[in-house]
Amino acid sequence: MKPVGILGGTFNPVHYGHLRIAEELADALALDEVRLMPANLPPLRDAPDVPGAVRLHMVRLAIAGNARLQADDREVSKTSLCYTVDTLATLRDELGADCPLVLLIGADAFARLHRWHRWSELFALTHFAVAERGGHPSIVDAPLDPLLARELAARRVDDPAQLRASPAGAIYLAPTSVLQISATRIRALVSRGASARYLLPQPVLDYIHEQGLYGPPEQRLRETSPA
Ligand code: ATP
Repeated sequence: MKPVGILGGTFNPVHYGHLRIAEELADALALDEVRLMPANLPPLRDAPDVPGAVRLHMVRLAIAGNARLQADDREVSKTSLCYTVDTLATLRDELGADCPLVLLIGADAFARLHRWHRWSELFALTHFAVAERGGHPSIVDAPLDPLLARELAARRVDDPAQLRASPAGAIYLAPTSVLQISATRIRALVSRGASARYLLPQPVLDYIHEQGLYGPPEQRLRETSPA
């Protein structure tokens, strides 16, 4: 059974950092599909000022034409707080007990995993593939919470093929491209009217300008593509 990958995040907006880890890990792990799943109200950070439906739309624009990448609206369609452990339990019910499920996650987010709701239950539901994140220490060097470090030491596998051999429970540190791109930086660039081109797909940037997201109105149209 081919594994399914999940990439969660706020996607405010989606950018090439997200898309490259989805694409590279789909190859490395022989994933049938990777579902990009925007969070509605992320439990550990302020609610994004851009509605979930809009962030989901940007994800759809970004992955158009790539059959392996799918947008998953199960979290944005909820109005209540969503915990990853609950979302993964629902997915596990849908996919069945044997299907390998892999949560794709950047090193910065993995280093904070011990703060997630019922985090230690996640290993019974999913594998983890941890991508390097430019500007953040590699997971091998990062100062980790002792319990998380213990899980990493016990569960780490070096061969991605091992993620296909069981439904959940392993952690793979993936040698993905390090793209030092963040949504924070893109929002900052747009808000001061600077160029965010080539950090994210142009249809997403065009949409940001059309809708006046992140920036003052007079700066919205500077980077839109020619018709
Ligand atoms: P923000 O700057 O608003 O915090 P972000 O760019 O970190 O946003 P998120 O939507 O919060 O994007 O990230 C979702 C997931 O993608 C997280 O696991 C994060 O670590 C990972 N990720 C985001 N950008 C990159 C990148 N450039 N390289 C590797 N992983 C990334």
